[in-house]
Amino acid sequence: MERLQKVLANAGVASRRHCEELIVQGRVQVNGQIVKELGTRVDPDNDKIKVDGKLVHLERKIYVLLYKPTGYITSVSDPQGRRVVVDLLKGIKERVYPVGRLDYDTSGLLLLTNDGEMAHMLTHPSYEMDKVYRAWVKGVPAREKVSQLESGIRLEDGMTAPAQAKLLKTTSARDRSLLELTIHEGRNRQVRRMCEAIGHPVLSLERIQLGFLTLEGLQPGQYRPLTSAEVEKIK
Ligand code: URA
Repeated sequence: MERLQKVLANAGVASRRHCEELIVQGRVQVNGQIVKELGTRVDPDNDKIKVDGKLVHLERKIYVLLYKPTGYITSVSDPQGRRVVVDLLKGIKERVYPVGRLDYDTSGLLLLTNDGEMAHMLTHPSYEMDKVYRAWVKGVPAREKVSQLESGIRLEDGMTAPAQAKLLKTTSARDRSLLELTIHEGRNRQVRRMCEAIGHPVLSLERIQLGFLTLEGLQPGQYRPLTSAEVEKIK
C-alpha cells in the first residue's frame, strides 16, 4: 500500500505537490469514492484511481534480466509462430519489451522492461554500456586479426567503433577458438559480421555481460528481476 499522492505522481499525473492539490480539491476517486484525505493509502496493483473522472493507468515498472537460450526470437510475438523470449517469462503479468536484441542463435543476457524511458536510454549510442560477448569462431585468428577487431572493421554499414578483443583459448586440433569481444554498439549481427570479416566465422555466440550485469546465478531460460539498487545504478 502506498500514499495516494505518491502513486499519482509516479504514474506521471503531475508533481507530488500538484497531486496533493488535486486530492484536496476532491478531483480524485478511489474505487468510485472521492478521497480528499492526503495520507490515504492505496494498492496500485488493484485499486481503480480516477482523476477528473479519467482512469489513471498504473503500471509497475519492472526490469527482468533473462538468460536467453538459443532458439528464441527476441520479440514479443512472431508471425511465423517461432518461440519468442517473452514465452519464457511465466510469472510476469506486465507487458515487457526486450531492450536491444540477440539473434535467434545467440544466447546470453537480455534485459526486458516496460520502462520505455530506460529502454530508450540504453539503446541510444551515446549510452556506452559495455556488452561482452564470447564467440567460438572457426580456426585460430592471428594476432593482427584480433587487433583489427579492436581498432575497427569496415562493415557494409560503416566502420565499427573501437572495441576490446581477446583470444581466450584454442582447441588442440586448432579448428576453433574462443574470442571475447567487448563492444558498445548494437548493430544488427555485429559480432557475427565482425568475425566473418576477419575470416573467422562465428560457430556459437553468447553475451556474458551487459554493463555491470552478469549471468551469475542464471541458467539458460531462467530470469530474475533487477534489484532496485541495480535499477538505480543503470539510471
Ligand atoms: N552480435 C551478433 O552478431 N549477434 C547478436 O545476437 C548480438 C551481437
